[in-house]
Amino acid sequence: MSKLIIVGTVAFDAIETPFGKTDKILGGAATYIGLAASHFNVDAAAVSVVGGDFPEAYLDLLETKNIDVSGIEIVKEGKTFFWSGKYHNDMNSRDTLATELNTLADFNPVVPEDYKDAEVVMLGNLHPSVQSSVLDQMTEKSKLVILDTMNFWMDCALDDLLKVIKRIDVITINDEEARQLTGEYSLVVAARKIHEMGPKYVVIKKGEHGALLFHNHHVFYAPALPLEEVFDPTGAGDTFAGGFAGYLAKTGDVSFENMKNAVIYGSTLASFCVEKFGTERMQNLSNSEVHKRLLQFKQLTQFEIELT
Ligand code: AMP
Repeated sequence: MSKLIIVGTVAFDAIETPFGKTDKILGGAATYIGLAASHFNVDAAAVSVVGGDFPEAYLDLLETKNIDVSGIEIVKEGKTFFWSGKYHNDMNSRDTLATELNTLADFNPVVPEDYKDAEVVMLGNLHPSVQSSVLDQMTEKSKLVILDTMNFWMDCALDDLLKVIKRIDVITINDEEARQLTGEYSLVVAARKIHEMGPKYVVIKKGEHGALLFHNHHVFYAPALPLEEVFDPTGAGDTFAGGFAGYLAKTGDVSFENMKNAVIYGSTLASFCVEKFGTERMQNLSNSEVHKRLLQFKQLTQFEIELT
């Protein structure tokens, strides 16, 4: 079994969707990634920072999911990163209402000693120079480095982002962000341009329209599971990344063929995430529910066709 190091925000979120509104609840990229990766029984550790206002119960929750939280720094006199967003009626797009970096602004990540040789590194959404600093601390060359990012960092730290992108194997990014990063509307052209920036594998997430995996001239597509009701899409991208990374860490096979399965696992876990507000659904998700949905996924996408 491989070790997985997860870097990203551990946060407070306030979310507004057409279905309702939350006060400050548990959120953050590393939180969603960790909850998703916990389904694979890998040795996982999170690297992040929170303030003195962050409830211990939230850290306990991550620990009960077997996520090592020793790399989550607590700045007693500081405040936890806060993000607030409002979804449009289509639930596929949202406006960011607030991003308060707080303790994140001066964060120097420290990778726990035991995880400096982790085979899989999941660089979740965070300042790209923090993502770089984590790579600098790894003592062994990792089998796979995956990076997730968002438009916020393209707007305010593009040079740092381009530097870290050069050092990674897989990028997971949504369609809008891929277009912003490359200036290309076609996702095929955008993926090619992102390949040229460094990553050998490019995953473009398209919300309710699924995800594309590009590798050289190969493309794989997985739809999103059609759901009756999407309650809150927050964290779906991170949950996808956590499922993707967790599966690859568990299997230790980083071939393109196996990455297709990782995309399916990521999509399956993300389909649960959106069913309730925030992390609620992921906190109580059982492995048997995941298994059932994987079967549904298989039925949805499998067909026999005779080609002559
Ligand atoms: P997603 O819906 O997958 O894009 O992820 C939403 C999560 O990302 C929320 O829980 C936020 O706390 C977190 N988040 C929002 N903005 C940022 C940012 N600029 N950097 C890092 N994490 C963020």
